[in-house]
Amino acid sequence: MVTVTVKCRHCGSENLSKNGFAPNGKQKYLCKDCKKASREDPTSNAYSQDFRELVLRACEERSSLRGAARTFSIHRHTISRWQEEKKTNSSSS
Ligand SMILES: [Zn+2]
Repeated sequence: MVTVTVKCRHCGSENLSKNGFAPNGKQKYLCKDCKKASREDPTSNAYSQDFRELVLRACEERSSLRGAARTFSIHRHTISRWQEEKKTNSSSS
């Protein structure tokens, strides 16, 4: 897991609580100071690294790519691409 410091983009507060996931897989946050919703920035339409890890772990545990795709509402081709990328990355890092 990677720890990321997220600041409220409305008031700059770091006093945020997690508030589920956006449809594109990004973590959503609720600011406790100004009560507005924020989400992970700035990469707009990519799935977050944490979300990828979550999905890939689910695939390993259930050994069902289709099931995970259905659970997370993403295409199974996307998951298989991530699996390939993970293999590639893990050898270099
Ligand atoms: Zn705020």
